[in-house]
Amino acid sequence: MQTYEFAVIGAGIAGASVAYELQSHGRTLLLEQEPLPGHHTTGRSAAFSFESYGDRAVRLLTQAARRFFEDPPEGFAQHRLAQPCSVLWIARSEQAQRLVEHAKRVASDGAKLSQVSAAEALQMCPVLREDQIAMGVVDERALHLDVAGLLDAYLAGFRARGGILATRAAVTELRSSGGVWEIHAGDTRHLARVVVNAAGAWADAIGALAGARSIGLRPLRRTAITFDPPAGANIADWPCVVDADEAFYVKPEGAQLLASPCDESPFPPCDVTPDEIDIAVAVDRVMRATTLEIRHIQHSWAGLRSFVADRVPVIGVDPEVPGFFWLAGQGGIGIMTAPSAARAATSLILDGALPADLTSLGITAEMFAASRPALRAEAPNR
Ligand SMILES: Cc1cc2nc3c(=O)[nH]c(=O)nc-3n(C[C@H](O)[C@H](O)[C@H](O)COP(=O)(O)OP(=O)(O)OC[C@H]3O[C@@H](n4cnc5c(N)ncnc54)[C@H](O)[C@@H]3O)c2cc1C
Repeated sequence: MQTYEFAVIGAGIAGASVAYELQSHGRTLLLEQEPLPGHHTTGRSAAFSFESYGDRAVRLLTQAARRFFEDPPEGFAQHRLAQPCSVLWIARSEQAQRLVEHAKRVASDGAKLSQVSAAEALQMCPVLREDQIAMGVVDERALHLDVAGLLDAYLAGFRARGGILATRAAVTELRSSGGVWEIHAGDTRHLARVVVNAAGAWADAIGALAGARSIGLRPLRRTAITFDPPAGANIADWPCVVDADEAFYVKPEGAQLLASPCDESPFPPCDVTPDEIDIAVAVDRVMRATTLEIRHIQHSWAGLRSFVADRVPVIGVDPEVPGFFWLAGQGGIGIMTAPSAARAATSLILDGALPADLTSLGITAEMFAASRPALRAEAPNR
């Protein structure tokens, strides 16, 4: 039986990034139930980061992560992790007021946004239908992220620092005694002082093993498709187009276009697959808003985006179970916030406080705390 300072459950982007940070401060074990890390939600994202998305707490965490993507630590990654791109929010006339108000709120937190006319939006993305757009808002500081490269770099860095990754190691039991956790994973037992719950859609199940109350986590399925762009179209410069009410988005993805109907169907934690109806809705919404013809879908997939009631991630120690730390509920922002969320988690575990560069942006530990009332109000009993 090996003894560790920290045991992290789940080797998606959340677990890999926090394990990388923690390993600098103590021996860390990263446990993953699947044969390969990143198999679940992390391997299924749309890979973009933009500061005009989500609640204020989420937007600040996204802002804080930007420096890491653009200028990672020396030797961290073999290739660039982020390419600049832009996001074009589009609104029909009945949506315009809501979009303008959202843009005002977001701009007050430091995001760089500009309002554009329908004609300007059409110049940016020539396949938009003129009668489906009244105005737009451009977020020019968006990034396209190399998710596989980011996950690989975190895992390689973790191992290089001496961390241990165990795959095919499903955690089935957690017992705490005298400030030490005994963790059963596969056929092996491990000891650790702190357990970090980064189990994605399974985070509430892991919480139950530890005797913690539910945080009311809801895994919601989201579908994505890729398809060919029109022949001869130069899509490299097209923005990611997002409907003001998030009914769909469409963006360049290498030589293809990627679209999602922004579906949110509740699902139990599992290896989720897409439903034909959601694929059809994606096609319909994109074809209504644009002149794109989707005749053949190259690839379709789905993943679980897991949310708590207020849609803000949970980054904090459990209020009732000492040594049990939550890093869960990342919903649709787990990639774009991973570097700052991992640093926040590490600093809270070690010092009980956030790093100064995060607090200087207006981020507080309370925004993400596992003790916040929004979680407990929705949470079923133990
Ligand atoms: C279609 C789609 C598009 C998205 N687009 C974006 C985007 O553009 N930008 C963005 O930032 N985010 C996006 N997201 C969201 C993002 O992918 C997630 O927020 C993020 O991947 C969550 O990472 P995670 O590590 O928490 O979860 P996961 O990647 O699911 O990792 C959790 C891991 O825990 C493991 N685990 C569970 N239980 C156990 C156990 N008992 N023992 C051991 N291991 C266990 C699982 O096997 C899994 O590997 C998107 C998601 C989807 C589905």
